[in-house]
Amino acid sequence: MQFQNMENLTQKTAAFHTLGCKLNFAETSTIARQLTGAGYAKVSFDEPAHVYVINTCSVTENADRECKFHVKRAMKANPDGLVVILGCYAQLKPEEISGIEGVDLVLGAKEKFNLLSYLEDLQKSSDNGIIHSCEVDQADFFIGSYSIGDRTRAFLKVQDGCDYKCTYCTIPLARGISRSDTIENVVKNATEIASRGIREIVLTGVNIGDYGKGEFGNKKHEHTFLDLISELDTVEGIERIRISSIEPNLLKDESIELVAKSKRFVPHFHIPLQSGSDDLLKKMKRRYMSGLYSDRVQKIREVMPDACIGVDVIVGFPGETEEKFLETYRFLNELPISYLHVFTYSERENTEAAEMGGVIPIVERKKRSKMLRILSEKKKMAFYETQLGKSLPVLWEHENKNGFMFGFTENYVRVKKAFDENSINQIEFLKLDKVETDGTVSVQAAFEAFLSKV
Ligand code: SF4
Repeated sequence: MQFQNMENLTQKTAAFHTLGCKLNFAETSTIARQLTGAGYAKVSFDEPAHVYVINTCSVTENADRECKFHVKRAMKANPDGLVVILGCYAQLKPEEISGIEGVDLVLGAKEKFNLLSYLEDLQKSSDNGIIHSCEVDQADFFIGSYSIGDRTRAFLKVQDGCDYKCTYCTIPLARGISRSDTIENVVKNATEIASRGIREIVLTGVNIGDYGKGEFGNKKHEHTFLDLISELDTVEGIERIRISSIEPNLLKDESIELVAKSKRFVPHFHIPLQSGSDDLLKKMKRRYMSGLYSDRVQKIREVMPDACIGVDVIVGFPGETEEKFLETYRFLNELPISYLHVFTYSERENTEAAEMGGVIPIVERKKRSKMLRILSEKKKMAFYETQLGKSLPVLWEHENKNGFMFGFTENYVRVKKAFDENSINQIEFLKLDKVETDGTVSVQAAFEAFLSKV
């Protein structure tokens, strides 16, 4: 029924759904722009569309279930729509995905940016989906991309792939070797984003501290992450730049000092730790010990006392005895950090860690994860408390949630006030008043004025 209506439509339509990281979001946006540039109209994922594109992630625990779920959603919206699967999971398990009922096309790491050409002759069929996939070591090219998130911030991809071999990680298998965009392209994209009225850019990549590696065309890169951020720091029109996540061994003093002095780079760092136990860091094949990590945190605090510092940590890695877990717990408890992202370890096929002994029972993994999540809340609240009474610039987002709007300070304090359409995408200096029960910080004047009206 829906498709009959669609046959009469002259303009083709495409719908997109993205799973996983900011990099995937940036890439979906680029692919969507390719399609809209070729005359497709973008529609929401639950509407009838000619083409449904699902950009998958291999990191989530239930990648296969999630993929199937969104294929079903697409089939429900239009049983005759073409369903295309791309992204990390498509690179790792193309055969498995092509067998999912309703899937028409599976594209690997290299082919995903040629979606338009594959769509030309694609027909809906009840056979398995067609696979166009490369070996991941052929994925050595770079396509710069960016996505506009909520109209206040854009995710700008500067780097892809990873040369590290952390024993729990499948990302290098799905995304290939480390490679980067040129500084010229990054600056061009950043300027374009700024010209669209976007106030904040988040730099994204798999391992952005490794920026500058690889070749572009046939020219070898000669730049470092420090060169990149030094150049971006001079681009007019961009108000805020956030470094998303950077490996501690690649976060150099010079980069920290540049952020401290910068008018554009904001004082917010997200630094993966994964474990506070040196034994486990070795088993994970991370490239630092806990001493280097705390040194990086101290350096940031020294030059930016109000910086927000987020930490990734994995619990339940093979061999994480109770004692080693407590080592991590105590290490984090003592560090002056602001929040944690806690990941519960789960075995991934084709990784070294999946073959290791000392497997931790699932209930224990869950218990440890809960302990660290509670610690994270405590850290966050303690950090927010240190910011109360200060007047800080808040960039307001567009969403209206039960009469409130939300935004972030430069140092990543989540702030709320009564919804005011005029504030959307504006930066306002406001005095932070109180930590609310919902984990945000309210602003005295606006908040009280709003409450007096309701
Ligand atoms: S640094 Fe380690 S965890 Fe991060 S993408 Fe590379 S291999 Fe994976």
